[in-house]
Amino acid sequence: MGTNQQRVLVIGGGITGLAAAVGLCEHAAGHNVVGDVVLIEAEPRLGGNIRSSDFAGVPTVDEGPDAFLTRGGEALGFAARIGITEFVAPAAASAAVWFPRGGNHLHPIPGGLVLGVPGALRPMAASSLLSWRGKLRAALEPFVPRTPLAPDALGPYMRARLGGEVHERLIDALIGSIYASDTDHSSLEAVPQVSALAKSHRSLLIAARKMRANAPPPSGDPIFSAPRAGMQALVDGAAAAITSAGGQIRLGHSISEIVPSDPQGWMVDGEHFDQVIISVPAAMAAPLIRTAAPAAAGLLDASRHASVTMVTMAIPADQWPARLERMSGYLVPKPVQSTVTAASFGSQKWAHWAHPDGHQILRISLGRAGLDVDHLDDAQMLDHAVREVSQHLGITLAPTQSRITRWNQAFPQYKPRHHEWVAATEKLLPWGLHLAGASYRGIGIPTCLRDADRAVQRVISTTRF
Ligand SMILES: Cc1cc2nc3c(=O)[nH]c(=O)nc-3n(C[C@H](O)[C@H](O)[C@H](O)COP(=O)(O)OP(=O)(O)OC[C@H]3O[C@@H](n4cnc5c(N)ncnc54)[C@H](O)[C@@H]3O)c2cc1C
Repeated sequence: MGTNQQRVLVIGGGITGLAAAVGLCEHAAGHNVVGDVVLIEAEPRLGGNIRSSDFAGVPTVDEGPDAFLTRGGEALGFAARIGITEFVAPAAASAAVWFPRGGNHLHPIPGGLVLGVPGALRPMAASSLLSWRGKLRAALEPFVPRTPLAPDALGPYMRARLGGEVHERLIDALIGSIYASDTDHSSLEAVPQVSALAKSHRSLLIAARKMRANAPPPSGDPIFSAPRAGMQALVDGAAAAITSAGGQIRLGHSISEIVPSDPQGWMVDGEHFDQVIISVPAAMAAPLIRTAAPAAAGLLDASRHASVTMVTMAIPADQWPARLERMSGYLVPKPVQSTVTAASFGSQKWAHWAHPDGHQILRISLGRAGLDVDHLDDAQMLDHAVREVSQHLGITLAPTQSRITRWNQAFPQYKPRHHEWVAATEKLLPWGLHLAGASYRGIGIPTCLRDADRAVQRVISTTRF
């Protein structure tokens, strides 16, 4: 290593850290920079929350995320950069909300929603999910006086605007399942689509209707997509891109401390780096920077994360009724949740999860913020999933195979005023330390990729890297 050589460390080999290391390597190659890019991951494997593996003879059944949003182009663009060429789109199947009301408890999600906010009155009026009282309350929303945005509390805002039923059975069910959150205690601003609606008009219904009317005509491109080889392909492709560009990947080393290095830069577990991108969950970042930036570490200590368990099961074809065949799955709203919050009918949703014997592969999510299931052992977890989903579907499930994946503390919770917390934390960071990842500006893979790029730009703009 020459004396002018810049060394950049990326801590964490989830999608954010991988994308940051890919971006740094690409920049170094494109600008003839003499520098080192090192990525260090605590676990013996890369990917963080992304993992695909063989299940019941199907080679790539995802244990965590199974798709990414194509809007914005970040994920497809990144996939193209690391050489992924084959993608699958989810089948055109309908989703439902399970709620004990009327004869059939699986109610199709009404059309025209913007993340649960009704953008058309007719589908809402026709929905079997809501009572007449709930529909009427929501329809009166344009006459409700302005609701202050300042408390930045998603649930209270939605309840005030649209009433408890639409909030609990649609908005909280949809957003809560994406973020594993209890939206009564989460930030409105942190859900950009609905925050944009709330800011654009006093009435959410009018804002949602306008947004839908002004949206460009559907391009025919899918809204979600996944690599045909499973989401793991993003991890493997990124790792190959980093190493082939001369970057280093070290596995199985949990970084414990970052301290200032003389005269400039950082000593990380005894090794010098000029700049460091920390792409681990906020609660895990706090101890790393306790010496280097104690005030920022104190703010990171206040972060909260929720755990989710994913139970995957194979159901023989003869147990699966024809009436469920065109569905992709269902959500369970908060007031009627026991432990299961959502079920995805994987083999009906994804062509690459088709089972050779026609078994149905189900992915069942248990737990969220405020609904802790960590105390259940694996047998109890499976028992809950089987019993609750059997009850929801009105059939008796007897899986031939099952798999339990515990995602402990994997979902960052965006509390009210989350954005202020992020800005205050970043302001307290000394030169050369950068935070990135799902804890800060959004949980989805495209947002993590954007955050990785933001960190890379900061490294590049403040050094001759
Ligand atoms: C069950 C589940 C389903 C999801 N579904 C979707 C979906 O369908 N679509 C979507 O877009 N998003 C989905 N998400 C969200 C998305 O997967 C995550 O937000 C994203 O993968 C987070 O990436 P990250 O790199 O920020 O963090 P992580 O994936 O958490 O990576 C952080 C890495 O840092 C490592 N690390 C921690 N501490 C240290 C240390 N001291 N030293 C070194 N390394 C350390 C960890 O081992 C980990 O590998 C889902 C998440 C889960 C859990």
